[in-house]
Amino acid sequence: MSLSQLIAFKPIAAIATTPNACQQLQPLCQTGDVTLYVPPALGDIPHTEIYSESLREFLAEQWSSHRAIIFCLALGAVVRLISPLLQHKSSDPAVIVVDETGQFVISVCSGHIGGADQLAQLVARQLGATPILTGSANADQLPGIDILGVPFGWKRGTGDWTGVSAAIARQQTVEVLQSAGSTLWQQHLPENHPFNFTSVAAPQAKIWIGPKQQQFSTEISTDRLPQVQWHPRVLWVGVGCERNTPKALIERAILEVLQAHQLAEEAVAGIATLDLKADESGLVALCQERNWPLRTFGAEVLGRVTVPTPSEVVRQEVGTPSVAEAAALQAAGVQELLVSKQIYRFPQLQPSEAERIGQAVTVAIAQAEREYTGRDGQLLLVGTGPGQLNQMTPAAQTAVTQADVVIGYSLYLDLIRPLLRPGQIVESYPITQERQRAERAIFLAEWGLTVAVVSSGDCGIYGMAGLVFEELRARGWQGKTPAVQVFPGISALQAAASRVGAPLMHDFCAISLSDLLTPWEVIEKRLKAAAMADFVCALYNPRSRTRTEQLYHARAIFLQFRSPQTPVALVRSAYREDEQITLTTLEKLTEVDVDMLTTVLIGNESTTFHQNWMITPRGYLGFT
Ligand code: SAH
Repeated sequence: MSLSQLIAFKPIAAIATTPNACQQLQPLCQTGDVTLYVPPALGDIPHTEIYSESLREFLAEQWSSHRAIIFCLALGAVVRLISPLLQHKSSDPAVIVVDETGQFVISVCSGHIGGADQLAQLVARQLGATPILTGSANADQLPGIDILGVPFGWKRGTGDWTGVSAAIARQQTVEVLQSAGSTLWQQHLPENHPFNFTSVAAPQAKIWIGPKQQQFSTEISTDRLPQVQWHPRVLWVGVGCERNTPKALIERAILEVLQAHQLAEEAVAGIATLDLKADESGLVALCQERNWPLRTFGAEVLGRVTVPTPSEVVRQEVGTPSVAEAAALQAAGVQELLVSKQIYRFPQLQPSEAERIGQAVTVAIAQAEREYTGRDGQLLLVGTGPGQLNQMTPAAQTAVTQADVVIGYSLYLDLIRPLLRPGQIVESYPITQERQRAERAIFLAEWGLTVAVVSSGDCGIYGMAGLVFEELRARGWQGKTPAVQVFPGISALQAAASRVGAPLMHDFCAISLSDLLTPWEVIEKRLKAAAMADFVCALYNPRSRTRTEQLYHARAIFLQFRSPQTPVALVRSAYREDEQITLTTLEKLTEVDVDMLTTVLIGNESTTFHQNWMITPRGYLGFT
């Protein structure tokens, strides 16, 4: 997997016309997701490709084959260059501009559907720049209406998208009629959003979300109510057919049944049938062409499903009294059909043809409770560092911005709030609910969403990463879906050390004094071993409101092996507004206020204080 997280936008072309611009864009090219093109005048620069024609001609060639184009060039020049190439926001590539000082990344066009707004944010995080988004949805902290359902794999239906977006931007009354699909997006809107989720008297725009094909004019007109429709993929179409039924006939049967019941073809999740049909060529080809999954079930599974129209003839032939109805119900995981078995015959067939290919296709439709996303979920396990955003790696920042869902402990979510984007689902949990956080993250990722689980410091050091992996292992995770990526962060021991000098210069260890998950005997054994072996020691979770004794015990153990004068640093809330630093000694350690936000650093036999700095010698000057 790519480390740069730009993979969703590939292929990406970056264009630089000066050496400085080239340097600004270089970091994007290191992971191989972006190809950097330069004119011949810049000479042979490593990791770049040369375009030999004029930039205008070169762009015309690249335009339709790229999902995104990143310029490091004056915005005016970019506007002139791309203007003859622009066709429609649903097909144009995302275009963004990085200014030559590398301070700003501007989303120029295809901000929503093309993803330029998101790309600008991701690139800005990678370059340490500020993203500039000029769309009104961003200012209002609202999700773009034309990308609303993307995380859930919904398909855009017909509609006056510009008209509805304009009504939202004007804060007019927008009626949302959602009959299916996730309502998670509704729960994360800013307070004064313009959406009404129940019928209103005189709406100024309407958004339909459901499997029905709404009939309304999509013409843009000032005196007509602007309406759009999104289709969550909730419909499982059960299909039964004879061997060698041509693809076109199966397709016609499905589309006609959908149409007869005013159901949108965009709402189809996939096709379900008997396992004997897993290699039915027409069915397989149709599913491939339309990107529909083909779910197949054995006759004994289908035979157990209660259906409205069982058939004895079918049972004798394939061993289950129902294929289409039973498969639709089984795939959708429900007990009632939306459309019971429809038999589609081909009246115009010649008798000889009718013999060769099947006589009929049967179609039944069931509606699932939860939509099929059609996406492979991802778990991004992110360390946010000790506090301030500038202590968080650009890769970790990008991961948070990129995610559909961000899950974490409320205090840490507040610290990374500037990274969140409108429309993101942000779920905060109290400090104690780590397992709930992990389970929720896995549930959403298995469903197809990209979920960032954030921990302070490093996520793999007393953080969420290990717990998520444990839960995945317990569920028999095969290692691929959901895909997992871990983003390291600066852990409390490093943060604390940096504030007091260089106490971790020699061998060190970390010990958590929390005995909630680890028996005290184990902690005691490790404290003894560390003290005896003269490790510099970082104590995490030194004390909580209810756990007050452990630090006294730890001190007593260290005093058995180390001088009472051993330097100790207590760093509370490193890199946060209320940071407190206290330098003391092992003897006096318990005289100082220590709480759950503190990391305790205990020096080794050679650690000293010098001018308020805590230094552990490495040995260069002869002492260790
Ligand atoms: N994953 C985190 C550790 C979580 S355990 C990390 O890698 O840093 C929580 C403990 O970490 C706290 O009890 C405290 O001992 C320490 N800690 C976390 N953030 C801190 C900070 N900003 N300053 C000092 N200690 C901190």
